[in-house]
Amino acid sequence: MSYYTLAEGCPYARNDTSVQLRNGSGGGLVLMQDTQLIETLAHFSRERIPERVVHAKAAGAYGVFECTHDCTDITSASFLNTVGKKTEVLLRVSTVGPEAGSADTTRDVHGWAMKLYTDEGNLDWVFNNTPVFFIRDPIKFPSLNRSHKRHPRTHRPDANMVRQRLKTWDQRGADEFFSSGTNRTLYTHIPLFSFHVGNPEGIHELIHLFSDRGTPASLRHINAYSGHTYKFTKEDGSFKYIKVHIKTQLGAKNMTAEESIRIAGENPDFLMQDMFDAIEKGDFPVWNVYVQVMDPKEAETCKVNIFDMTKVWPHKDFPLRQIGKLTLNRNPRNYFTDIEQAAFSPSTMVPGWAPSADPILQARMFAYPDAARYRLGTNYQMLPTNAARAPVYCPFQRDGFMNFSTNYGDDPNYVGSSLKPTVFASKPSTTTITEHEKWVGEVSSFASTIQQDDFVQATELWKVLGREPGHQDRYIQNVSNSVKNVISKELREKVYDLYRRVDPELGERLKKATEAQVVNKN
Ligand code: NDP
Repeated sequence: MSYYTLAEGCPYARNDTSVQLRNGSGGGLVLMQDTQLIETLAHFSRERIPERVVHAKAAGAYGVFECTHDCTDITSASFLNTVGKKTEVLLRVSTVGPEAGSADTTRDVHGWAMKLYTDEGNLDWVFNNTPVFFIRDPIKFPSLNRSHKRHPRTHRPDANMVRQRLKTWDQRGADEFFSSGTNRTLYTHIPLFSFHVGNPEGIHELIHLFSDRGTPASLRHINAYSGHTYKFTKEDGSFKYIKVHIKTQLGAKNMTAEESIRIAGENPDFLMQDMFDAIEKGDFPVWNVYVQVMDPKEAETCKVNIFDMTKVWPHKDFPLRQIGKLTLNRNPRNYFTDIEQAAFSPSTMVPGWAPSADPILQARMFAYPDAARYRLGTNYQMLPTNAARAPVYCPFQRDGFMNFSTNYGDDPNYVGSSLKPTVFASKPSTTTITEHEKWVGEVSSFASTIQQDDFVQATELWKVLGREPGHQDRYIQNVSNSVKNVISKELREKVYDLYRRVDPELGERLKKATEAQVVNKN
């Protein structure tokens, strides 16, 4: 098309003038009949859709997943049924807490949302760059995230997060906190201490967050993990438990805390730009994709609760087995269309892949599509970036706002019709696999208690950091730079106690490093 039109097709001659009542040589009143003006203003006010409440800031790109190893003994998933088979993917990598306009080098967990457009429908991997998570009960998820975000009264990041009313604060400490550029750029993790003292099951993830990996050098240098246990299923109805590991071929590489703060000020979109520029010039990032595999029988005696997202499966007991390779090779043509309108959910699955009983995973399978319906509308699956590349025939899901399909014409919209015989796939899907776990128990309100076992893997990771010279020192510095802003001495002491349970010396060193910097010593 060589000329501009209104959204409904009417050509217009100019795009830079409104229709005005001429008054001599000047303009004057504008008229309601100027549809071009009205549409221009009205659409502008509606250009934004709700920002994601978490994972708002992100980079994204398209690429290809290639099956590199025979996996047919553990799954019948079509995208893994032939070595060399390629599947188009969309990847969106995000920070979690900060808003869409925030600096992307801020210390945070990074989300790894990936849509595999397989020939049997879409499979979404909604992972993180850490192998564990802060909580294991989904009811805590909103609280966890509010503790990252802004104070309900001041609308600023808050060191103590609603533990004390503002008027009881030591003003000097509060001024120091709020005026510091460091606190502004790194705010998202500060209130976590209030949350985690009360919810210590997150200590393992806290060790990850404040390690060097909390500030990756680029998105091309991060690993990603399913975190949750999933299942690979086969057509005979059997299954294996799995965890997915995605490892960058470039090797994990990180910034120092100081670099991340400096770059946050210089270029808040640094990580986005790095990935976009690399792909644009053909320097395509590549990751190897592995699974850890566990037989259901092993799960019964495994010392780790495999449905507890605060725990990993030790490598030595469950070695990595490669299944594929991921290459990013194409930038989005339009960020809003391809990335902002993308919706991911762990409930988006294909035959051969199934969820486990992990309570957080089960809750996410409701919450993610629910968020997409709110953010994008009930027909979000029709948007080009979300639409399956495989054939879709779902006449029981039709109508609704913004339905831009042919809406299945006059096909029956109810089950059991003989007017159009229904054909079903022969492969078992999630709803038809037969060998699920057998569960026995009582329905009750269940609060899992914190045990010393919750600190064991955190201690293991603390030792892993000790393998690299200086990493433990930097960890203590990273944590103390935040805890020094906690105004309540009582809360600071509780933070040291939390870390003493990982390693007594770590707790002591953290206290020493922090108290030396505290402004308000109450
Ligand atoms: P190992 O002792 O066999 O290996 C340690 C793993 O830690 C490495 O494979 C590496 O995983 C990861 N790692 C290395 N450096 C860092 C770092 N600076 N920050 C975060 N992770 C790092 O692992 P185990 O299985 O015995 O577990 C020991 C601890 O390692 C656990 O407590 C866990 O937190 C951590 N870990 C374990 C993973 C697992 O799934 N078993 C995965 C990642 C970390 P990678 O190559 O994936 O980066």
